[in-house]
Amino acid sequence: MTSFLTHRARVHDARLPLRRRHNALRTCITLFAPYGFRATYHHLTLSAAIPRRLEADPDALVRAVEELHEARVLWLARAQEYAAWRRAEKRTGRRAVANPRPWWLRSWWEGQDRAWYEDPFRHPPLRLREYVRRQNAILDGADLPGCPACGDARPLEPISTGHGWVGLCRGCAWAPVPCPCGHRHRLVPQVPYGWNEIWQRAHMSDDGTPNPHRPAG
Ligand SMILES: [Zn+2]
Ligand SMILES: [Zn+2]
Repeated sequence: MTSFLTHRARVHDARLPLRRRHNALRTCITLFAPYGFRATYHHLTLSAAIPRRLEADPDALVRAVEELHEARVLWLARAQEYAAWRRAEKRTGRRAVANPRPWWLRSWWEGQDRAWYEDPFRHPPLRLREYVRRQNAILDGADLPGCPACGDARPLEPISTGHGWVGLCRGCAWAPVPCPCGHRHRLVPQVPYGWNEIWQRAHMSDDGTPNPHRPAG
């Protein structure tokens, strides 16, 4: 728990070389990543406008870690509440995990958000705190319109799995139902990507806007 805050403080520390502050941001994302590690990083490069050359705007790293931190505070409050509730349930003899599982305990490979792990460009466009708020509200029983993950209300995008069809949210590639065979399959990214290029922000310009020569999915 302190680890996130320790690394967050490193991201803020202007005396450290930018490369180390960037690595500290990476550690923070390994500890909390609502969209999965790669998609969360990609999201933050856009929302915090992290330039391709970090020297062009060192504060971008601070904006990124603060967006992450804000969302984590909301998640942590809900997760602690949930843990207390689970302890009380166990004391009364109910050991089975509640159904549906809370959003942060779902496994990604069988999850409706599987695409975010396979194509880091396809994640909700929401600020992380809005995403967390939305997921917490759904967990508390709210019936929200549109895609559960991002609220997009457009018809689903049909994708062939080779032996059937699945529909993906056009806003974030959320898959409401698995393939007719019962499994969730790998999503082949529409734009082939190299993780190193995303990590080095090849999709960003020095002024923090998306690089027009590198479509970001
Ligand atoms: Zn969506
Ligand atoms: Zn299938």
